[in-house]
Amino acid sequence: PCESGNSMPWFGMDIGGTLCKLVYFEPKYITKDEADAEVETLKNIRQYLTKNSAYGKTGHRDAHLQMDDVCIRGRRGTLHFIRFPTSEMGNFLALAKSKGMANLVTTVCATGGGAYKFEENFKKEVNLSLAKFDELDSLIRGMLYIEMTNPCECYYWTNPTDDEKCQKMPYDFSKPYPFLLVNIGSGVSILAVQGPNDYRRISGTSLGGGTFLGLCCLLTGCNTFEEAIELATSGDSTRVDKLVKDIYGGGYSRFGLPGDLVASSFYDVCSFGQMNSKDRRNTVTKEDLARATLVTITNNIGSITRMCALNEKIERVVFVGNFLRVNPISMKLLASAMDYWSKGTLKALFLEHEGYFGAVGCLLQFTG
Ligand code: ADP
Repeated sequence: PCESGNSMPWFGMDIGGTLCKLVYFEPKYITKDEADAEVETLKNIRQYLTKNSAYGKTGHRDAHLQMDDVCIRGRRGTLHFIRFPTSEMGNFLALAKSKGMANLVTTVCATGGGAYKFEENFKKEVNLSLAKFDELDSLIRGMLYIEMTNPCECYYWTNPTDDEKCQKMPYDFSKPYPFLLVNIGSGVSILAVQGPNDYRRISGTSLGGGTFLGLCCLLTGCNTFEEAIELATSGDSTRVDKLVKDIYGGGYSRFGLPGDLVASSFYDVCSFGQMNSKDRRNTVTKEDLARATLVTITNNIGSITRMCALNEKIERVVFVGNFLRVNPISMKLLASAMDYWSKGTLKALFLEHEGYFGAVGCLLQFTG
């Protein structure tokens, strides 16, 4: 049964500092009334969104994340996951207008800072009202819903330090509470979640995915996140960082610091790093610098997370956010850092729809 006022289309939007995430619910069955009432425009929009996987130069549909046959407020349908850079909002609005969105009197659920920043533009340019929701409420709501709906949503990494043996394994997250939720977007937020409506934002850091991308572009001349990750994948951060063994010749065993631990990030390319640091700097590659940037940012997040977990006495940490997109290096680093420093008591968990929970949570709150 369709609740009155819940007119299609159903969208949830999370307009972040870097990426705009758009979740679209495509109903499986359309009632006769709806079919009769469905204006040509709406049909066109539905077809445009579901038949393409790229929109313009920078919009993408993550077809591998698509969820069929989900139930939202009594309706069955498919969830589609679409993203584009927030900097392209102008083009997005122009496209939405050209598809006739302005003629449909609709409300779109929106969260993230951009829901405030662009509210006027939505109204003026596409005649769309935004129903605004809090981003952390949306994040948790979306995450709990997707985790419950998708049986293979949650996973962890076994043997994260061993490339040969390392594997993604499903994790049963049916009894979730309490857990830490670490959202690594442009910046980082850390939440302690005790129940579905019971959470606190306990910490955060501005050194997040945006920092990685910014520094990596500056240091290597790369232009995209994908490029940055590709460089990092073939780089070696130990050619850039000073390790404990570079200082001690081995580990600092009295305090349990292994030789391979980074003692000082980027030390080896600084001018007072060593006598021949200029030569050293010249032998360091773009790949090494990208890797060192990725490792530095990731380890810092890991270290803050570990302190939060200790403080809150929470043993499971769920890492989300688009920084983890196509980024197994960081996931494995976080997994091994949680495991190593907690002597096995802390568990790092990950979710397949990593960056989309805010947008999903927002869609779920839609009342039309
Ligand atoms: P926000 O809501 O702050 O935009 P996200 O969770 O969407 O946060 O994550 C943004 C981060 O994800 C970027 O800072 C970058 O590190 C990473 N990222 C992953 N894929 C992309 C991409 N295609 N373009 C830009 N950044 C990306």
